[in-house]
Amino acid sequence: MKITQIKTTPLLVPYKKPYHWAKGIIHGAGVVLVEVHTDDGLVGIGESIATPSASAIESYLKIAKEICIGRSPFENTRLMGECYHAMFQALGTCSAPRFSGQVLAGLEMALWDVMGKSTGRAVHELLGGAVRDKIDYFGFPQGATAEEVAAEAHEMAQAGCDVIYFKVGRGDALDLEIARQVRQAVGPDKRLRMDPNESWSPVRALRMLRKMAEFDIDMVEQPTNAESISALAQVRNRSPIAIAADQLVFTPHNAYDVCREKAADLIVLGLHETGGIARFRKVAHIAEAADIDICIHGLYETGITTVAAHQAAATLSNLDDGNQYMNHLLKWDIVKSPNLSLQNGSLPVLGGPGLGIELDPEAVARAAEAHIREAEGNA
Ligand SMILES: [Mg+2]
Repeated sequence: MKITQIKTTPLLVPYKKPYHWAKGIIHGAGVVLVEVHTDDGLVGIGESIATPSASAIESYLKIAKEICIGRSPFENTRLMGECYHAMFQALGTCSAPRFSGQVLAGLEMALWDVMGKSTGRAVHELLGGAVRDKIDYFGFPQGATAEEVAAEAHEMAQAGCDVIYFKVGRGDALDLEIARQVRQAVGPDKRLRMDPNESWSPVRALRMLRKMAEFDIDMVEQPTNAESISALAQVRNRSPIAIAADQLVFTPHNAYDVCREKAADLIVLGLHETGGIARFRKVAHIAEAADIDICIHGLYETGITTVAAHQAAATLSNLDDGNQYMNHLLKWDIVKSPNLSLQNGSLPVLGGPGLGIELDPEAVARAAEAHIREAEGNA
C-alpha cells in the first residue's frame, strides 16, 4: 500500500460562546484537515491546529507531502523523522521539536487511521489494546463573569462530571471569585481544577494557591512560565495544592526533565504538542516510570482530535480521570459518528477501523466556508 495523495483543507468551526483564558478570548477552532489517500482507495483523516495561520501550516505540510507520497503509511515513525529532518534540521537553520509537533500531528494521526482501516483494527488495538472501558473527562465551564462560569459548572456537575476545570489568570480578584462561586455551585464533593496558563510568578502563584486552598482545589495547571522547570519545581515544593505541568512538556526529553526535577504531580499532554499518537505514548511511558499520571490536553480542535487522543489514551495505564474535553464548545462538529457527547462525564472506548470516524461532508463544507470568510475578513 502506497500513499498517493495528501489533501489539506483549512477549516474554522466557530464556538457557541467566546472562550476566555489568561491570554485572551478565542472564538472558534481553526484547523487544517489532513486526508491521506492510498493506492488501494483508503482515506485516512487527521487535523493539525492552524496557528499562527492555516496557510502557514499548509505550507509546511506541503513539504511533508512530498516526502510521504509513494511511501507506505506503515512507515509512520520513519516518515515523521524524515519530515522533521527535512523541515527543521537539514538546512541547519533551526531545531523546532515543539512547532514540528503541531505541524505534523494531523498527518501522523491520519497515517494511524489508514493503518487501522487497512487492517480492520481500531487504532487502540494496533497500539496493544485498551486497558480501560471508558475515559473520564472534566466539565469545562465558560463565561465572561464568575456568575456565568459557576452556572455552567453547576450544569456540568449535575450532568455527572466529577472534575470541574476552569480558567484563571484573569486577574486575582476575578480568579478568587470564580473559584468561590464554582465551589458554591457544585457543592463540596466535586473536584476542582484550575489553569492560570503560565500567568503567575512563583511568589504570586504561592500567594494565590494559599488563598485558593480554602476552596479545596484538587490541582493547578502550569501556573508559571513554561520556559522554566525550576519555577514550577519551586512552586510545587511549597504548594498546598497538587501541580500539573502543561506547556512545559511537549517532547520525551521535556517529560524526562520534569520527572527528574520532581517539578509536577501530573503531566498534561496532547497530540498537537507531541506531534501525534506515537510520541504521545512515548511521553506517557516516561511519566509512568516516574509514577506520574497523564491527563489529555485539549486545544482549539474538532472531534477528530477528540477521537484520536481518546484512541491513544485508552492504551495508557497511567491515565488521569480529569481529561480535557473541548467538543461542547463547537457550534457544530465535523464528525458525524461516533457520538462524542459525554455520558455521565465519560466516553466509552471507541471502535474502529482506524480512528473510527465518519465525517459529515456538509459540516466540513460549512467549516471550510467559515475559514474562507474569516480569511477574507482579515485580508
Ligand atoms: Mg493548560
